[in-house]
Amino acid sequence: MSPEGVEDVDVIVVGGGPGGSTLASLVAKQGHRVVILEKEHFPRYQIGESLLPSTIHGICRLIGVSDKLAQAGFTLKRGGTFRWGSNPSPWTFSFSISSRMAGETSFAYQVERSKFDKILLDNSRRIGVDVREGCSVTDVIGDDERVRGVSYVDATGNEKKIYSRYVVDASGNKSRIYQRIGGPRQYSEFFRSLALFGYFENGKRLPAPNSGNILSAAFDSGWFWYIPLSEKLTSVGAVVRREMASKVQGDPERALQALIDECPMVKEYLGDAKRVTEGKYGQIRVRKDYSYSNTRFWRPGMALIGDAACFVDPVFSSGVHLATYSALLAARSINSVMAGVIDEEAAFKEFELRYRREYGVFYEFLMSFYDMHVSESSYFWSAKKVTKNTHSELESFVDLVGGVSSGEAAFTETTSVAQRFKDRSKEFADAIDEVVAGQEQSMLPLFKSSVVQQAMQESSQVQARAVLGEDAEAETPLFDCGLVPSPDGMFWSAAG
Ligand SMILES: Cc1cc2nc3c(=O)[nH]c(=O)nc-3n(C[C@H](O)[C@H](O)[C@H](O)COP(=O)(O)OP(=O)(O)OC[C@H]3O[C@@H](n4cnc5c(N)ncnc54)[C@H](O)[C@@H]3O)c2cc1C
Repeated sequence: MSPEGVEDVDVIVVGGGPGGSTLASLVAKQGHRVVILEKEHFPRYQIGESLLPSTIHGICRLIGVSDKLAQAGFTLKRGGTFRWGSNPSPWTFSFSISSRMAGETSFAYQVERSKFDKILLDNSRRIGVDVREGCSVTDVIGDDERVRGVSYVDATGNEKKIYSRYVVDASGNKSRIYQRIGGPRQYSEFFRSLALFGYFENGKRLPAPNSGNILSAAFDSGWFWYIPLSEKLTSVGAVVRREMASKVQGDPERALQALIDECPMVKEYLGDAKRVTEGKYGQIRVRKDYSYSNTRFWRPGMALIGDAACFVDPVFSSGVHLATYSALLAARSINSVMAGVIDEEAAFKEFELRYRREYGVFYEFLMSFYDMHVSESSYFWSAKKVTKNTHSELESFVDLVGGVSSGEAAFTETTSVAQRFKDRSKEFADAIDEVVAGQEQSMLPLFKSSVVQQAMQESSQVQARAVLGEDAEAETPLFDCGLVPSPDGMFWSAAG
């Protein structure tokens, strides 16, 4: 119970990034009183501009922003182009190779995060969330039993308190609120990189139809991302290994140029380009992108989602996917407990297990992907082994990096799998020929992992549910808690 005279709501969300706004929308849709406390005033700058189809066609459809995103003019991302591994030539995958992302769901967007995040936050407001910008949460209020609210400084500098049944920390990687969940944050020994990034105008584009692809180019000190944000604007960043940290020190302009000079493909693409030097894109920024995971993701009354809980190396653009997917999982738990259908322990255990598993998939996959001594056909062939499906190696790989599973092809559209295969048969056959021609017999141990297979299944079900709603097939539980998503995807329910 809140002390008399102190504001009391159902859920407080700390941070209005994609994780926070998604969770708030999904809980407010059930009629609960939700407050977002956001430190900044939107639109605000954020890194993390390349998105996955599972976010756009799964989560964004569930929260009701698909039309707004379609109208925003974001660059269409049909896949990825890599200069990576032992192959000296760039290789490309397209999401449409996957039958699960065929047709209308075979793309994602490259977004200016200031615009994308504002669309999601405004949407929360539209749904009924009380969004308060310029409000910085300073601490969590709680006792041994549970978390009960937060203290914050409002936009006029006044210190305030709000009580709630749940506090969700979605405050990203810089805030310290997560410490109040208990248990330390564990940093990866493997992924300890530094990123140095800026923005350029008039950079070259990949040939059509791949001009909107993310380009990832490895070089001796690390790798570059090259993300076409609009016809003119490109986001360019170097991710360098920890032992190369001296390369991102000193004058940032010079450091970035020196790294560009080390990477022939990016150097060529920026041959006629000019770095943006004014406005929000005028700064060269440095970010430690060390991967980490908290030892706990929840305690009674509080949960961590998005970067507040964990982060994994950005090479597969999984950050916003993990933030919004964890928001969906936590929203289900909150909705279920508040509706009195599942007890708190079971609901949040399910949230944590599924979230950890999804994080683990990307983590494990990335460890293998950093093996530069194999060619792309080795990644594709191994992906087929892990998914155990009847489709091509390339398709298995694309499912993994697109954030969708291998077994739920019919769910992404209402037409049948067979029809979609027929429609796309030429592109698909060509792709298979390419893979078979370069196939290697080595197999990465990662792809034997059952955790990878399970997580792929779940993320496709998210997309399927968004498209088909209550018509989606019944699911089987993944863990001992025995919980499955309800037909509308908004709650947990006991299987059976
Ligand atoms: C170098 C690099 C490249 C990346 N590239 C990609 C990419 O291409 N694609 C991708 O998907 N991801 C990428 N990411 C990851 C991505 O940036 C994050 O995973 C994503 O933004 C996480 O979303 P979130 O909602 O958890 O947090 P955020 O987007 O960080 O939002 C958190 C919000 O909380 C607010 N906040 C913080 N503290 C407080 C407080 N005390 N009180 C109130 N509000 C607070 C902040 O102002 C912010 O608005 C990249 C990351 C790095 C480091």
